[in-house]
Amino acid sequence: MTDRARILQTKYLIRSLQLPDDTLLQRLLPHIKTSASRSTWYKLTAIPLWKECFPILDVLDWPTFNKLKLQFLEDSYKALCTGPYSKLIPTCRPEMIVDTILFLPMTNIERSQVLRWRLGWLPGGIPRPCLSHPLEKFTRTHATECLHMHSRLKMPISVEHSLSYVLQPPTCQKITK
Ligand SMILES: [Zn+2]
Repeated sequence: MTDRARILQTKYLIRSLQLPDDTLLQRLLPHIKTSASRSTWYKLTAIPLWKECFPILDVLDWPTFNKLKLQFLEDSYKALCTGPYSKLIPTCRPEMIVDTILFLPMTNIERSQVLRWRLGWLPGGIPRPCLSHPLEKFTRTHATECLHMHSRLKMPISVEHSLSYVLQPPTCQKITK
């Protein structure tokens, strides 16, 4: 979400420089562009994406901006993955793509359950005995067998975690916009 906000803020800065000369913002720009003004406009110029766009503003078109934006998103994603508390992000989102779980139609509760399934967080926090097989723990592997997920999802047995496989985001949905 922060990345989205930064992209919008950068677009705002670019558009503010392209306004007609007689607009109020254009008249104010000489004053608010200075650090002494302490303006929000000046604070926004610290955005990394803006710093990439600023040197080429004269020749910046939307295809170039989209390339810079994609690079900005990739850099941000890599920084997130290598951060000190980033174990979940590489696990849940191994590539920079639109996650299937985000756009499949389901309720918020179901989305939460699907995310928990992916993380291996089963209800109750720890594996409990299966209701049908009291000697077995209801782990993800046992749940796959016990609930006949392969036949329900019409998948071959060779696929280890059939539900996880179905929920895997297709790699063709890489972010391009
Ligand atoms: Zn069972």
